[in-house]
Amino acid sequence: MRRFFIAGNWKMNKTPSESSILANELKSALSDIEGVDIAVAPTDLAITTVTQRLQHTNVHVSAQNVHTESSGAYTGNVSAEMHRSAGVTYAIIGHSERRKYHQESDSDVNQKIKAALKGGLLPIVCVGETLEQRQADQAIQVVLSQVAAAVEGIPLDQLTSITLAYEPVWAIGTGHTASPEQAQEIHGAIRAWFGQQYPSFVAQQLRIQYGGSVKPANAATLLSQPDIDGALVGGASLNAESFKAIVTAAAAVRG
Ligand code: PEP
Repeated sequence: MRRFFIAGNWKMNKTPSESSILANELKSALSDIEGVDIAVAPTDLAITTVTQRLQHTNVHVSAQNVHTESSGAYTGNVSAEMHRSAGVTYAIIGHSERRKYHQESDSDVNQKIKAALKGGLLPIVCVGETLEQRQADQAIQVVLSQVAAAVEGIPLDQLTSITLAYEPVWAIGTGHTASPEQAQEIHGAIRAWFGQQYPSFVAQQLRIQYGGSVKPANAATLLSQPDIDGALVGGASLNAESFKAIVTAAAAVRG
């Protein structure tokens, strides 16, 4: 049985002191939850404070991005190794906002996954189609091509260190959630693809989160789908109470 994994992406929200307050709230709100992996992704500026607040708790910390190199003349960037040394566990890679506003390509995503794994971070890799692509009936094809490009050249023994996050672009921050059936169709297709490409343990162990307007009200029905193994949560992760409600829903479904 795959353990659920709920991650909160704080994006470019909260100052270091606001992040510290939210981390403290989550520390006590989530301390009793068992059987679910939990992470939050603050801004780089707040990451040291948040890792300190959440040290020795059940809430891990994720970066929102990593650079492809370990160090060097790359102004404004932070490497996987640096995040790791600050106590970070995961790295979100290929979020649609990075693909859109920073022109990150599938090949950049692949290199960043390799950099994260080399630097000791566990990648959370985002894939998802736009509304136009869904309306043109291309959702599965687009997502599988992003997945194939993302994992190209990743050694077999490292594949299950990756969490995939299916995030339809039209559902992110819009309040329009994919229906549980729409999400399950894509998650099932991703798992089937891994089953065709690799030994069966990879498809069985690979965790696939759903992301896109996940809220306390819709979490349980989405998480009840057989191939949805957690959630990547944006807006609803900025408040301890709503994030806790989503994590609690996960624990009730598969804790
Ligand atoms: C996200 O940005 O990954 C996300 C899913 O955001 P929201 O939950 O706000 O749609």
